[in-house]
Amino acid sequence: MNIILFGPPGAGKGTQADILQKQHSLCKLSTGDMLRAAVTSGSPLGAQVKDIMAKGQLVPDSIMIDLIRGRIQQPDCHPGFILDGFPRTVAQAEALDAMLTSEKKKLDYVIELQVDDAELVRRIAGRFSCAKCGAGYHDQSKQPRQPGVCDACGSREFTRREDDKAETVSKRLEAYHRQTAPLLPYYRTQGILKSVDGMADIDAVTRQIDQVLRVRTKVAENS
Ligand code: AMP
Repeated sequence: MNIILFGPPGAGKGTQADILQKQHSLCKLSTGDMLRAAVTSGSPLGAQVKDIMAKGQLVPDSIMIDLIRGRIQQPDCHPGFILDGFPRTVAQAEALDAMLTSEKKKLDYVIELQVDDAELVRRIAGRFSCAKCGAGYHDQSKQPRQPGVCDACGSREFTRREDDKAETVSKRLEAYHRQTAPLLPYYRTQGILKSVDGMADIDAVTRQIDQVLRVRTKVAENS
């Protein structure tokens, strides 16, 4: 099963991708995480994209396509994958379609998480994560159980994303509306777009996504 989790920054794609990955044994391809890991490791790719990312701009398509193709070919992606943060432009979506066709794969669902801009700004402004294991937290809605200690790994170091600063967030939201939202009609025409209410709490969003995927499983069982 191959899925795109679609939506603006802060919509909860990463959170839901983590849950789906565990529930369905799919590989998670979160392009933002992959690029941040490259920056942290100091690799040549990281050096190429560091400044672009800090400004909230998009990394060139050729880099993104190579990154995704390389991962999709790995054995852990054979059962299926979840894309989070890719594609972000119609050109990337067309390149993805061409690549999947050449790999004899196809997309099953594009699941859109719908969230208001005001809520996105609130979510992004408060989010932080464990510097060691990446577990996500939020100033208002999800503090670690023991203050200053990561629930998942016990680390005491936390970090905030460079591009989560207010001035960069507005640029990223503007880029989403201008460049990424036009992908919705692209996937609606293909008949694979499903929209869920991303304003709901995490468990409720997961249940809505489950419902979408259950319909597909039933159709597959009956055919
Ligand atoms: P994200 O974690 O998805 O918000 O991505 C963080 C940053 O990584 C973006 O602001 C871009 O600079 C870069 N990035 C992630 N995915 C893509 C993509 N599909 N195309 C271009 N740049 C990307």
